[in-house]
Amino acid sequence: MFKAIFIDKQDGAQAAQIVDLDESRLPEAPVTVRVEYSTVNYKDGLAITGKVPVVRKWPMVPGIDLAGVVEASVSEAWRPGDRVLLNGWGVGEGHWGGFAQKARVNAEWLQRVPECFTTRQAMAIGTAGYTASLCVEALVRRGLTPDRGEVLVTGASGGVGSVAVALLAAAGFNVIASTGKAAEADYLRSLGATQIIDRNELAHPGKPLQKERWAGVVDSVGSHTLVNACAQMRYHGLVTACGLAQGMDFPASVAPFILRGVSLLGIDSVMQPMPSRLLAWDRLARDLNASALDSISREIGLAEVIDVGNRIVTGAIRGRVIVDVNR
Ligand code: NDP
Repeated sequence: MFKAIFIDKQDGAQAAQIVDLDESRLPEAPVTVRVEYSTVNYKDGLAITGKVPVVRKWPMVPGIDLAGVVEASVSEAWRPGDRVLLNGWGVGEGHWGGFAQKARVNAEWLQRVPECFTTRQAMAIGTAGYTASLCVEALVRRGLTPDRGEVLVTGASGGVGSVAVALLAAAGFNVIASTGKAAEADYLRSLGATQIIDRNELAHPGKPLQKERWAGVVDSVGSHTLVNACAQMRYHGLVTACGLAQGMDFPASVAPFILRGVSLLGIDSVMQPMPSRLLAWDRLARDLNASALDSISREIGLAEVIDVGNRIVTGAIRGRVIVDVNR
């Protein structure tokens, strides 16, 4: 038997609870992982609350991330005892996920936990942190260098935002953090932000072209925030869009793109091919030290996941939440 968060649907309404499951109920797949840690991402909050139809199969064990040790494998790629992590691939949406003490998954979804990280630290990063790294990689690969000017991070106190601030600062960028949580200004400065702006400055409809300010942007918020960020880009500025915390809409003008040569780069973590995942994890291993990870994250037990899942979709959670599935 193993413990898991279980989402089921009855009479059209979904309910999440913690249950004991028999191992025979695990899905068919070649690699069985003894999960040590998972983490609560925004998308897990959507799955748990049912606010957006993230879950595609019922019943579902949510949790888009997991890290642990291979227990059994019929794939030659993995051996018992290997330390592995998994981000995305539809796990926790269409295939049972990481909010459980056991998981059975496809071999090609797994990657080795980088030597320098524990499985707990890998989940302090999780999908949110790895997505922040994908964003920074995309900016740097397209030629963004610190001498080009200020870089804006929106939703800065959240999971993606916190890691993006730390990674950009470590790479030498002048990072401006946009947040709705004035009380987190010191936290954001400690991660490397040089200036904090109130997210209200970006949250409302604005002019299609505004005063040029940003050389680069990591946006996890979408909607008017992303539109205003685009309108404030410097010539040939680069914007990465990965999230929708404010909204999925994009009520924008083409002006920044056709008059300032701004590029809008979409970032998806779920189906990202393995080579770019490994590059993103290399950057995390190089640029995120243990003390930054400690200040970004806190730990909960499996039983607290449902409560945190409900709160993360309200924007109330700072940084990252690690889940010890065995407590
Ligand atoms: P968090 O909840 O940890 O962070 C989101 C942050 O956005 C909040 O902390 C808050 O930061 C800000 N925010 C919340 N509500 C609003 C609002 N109404 N208007 C403006 N800002 C708001 O989530 P994550 O960082 O884990 O994820 C952020 C987004 O990125 C989510 O939409 C998620 O789905 C998406 N995502 C996408 C991925 C992909 O593959 N494309 C992968 C991972 C995440 P503050 O208070 O500092 O302003």
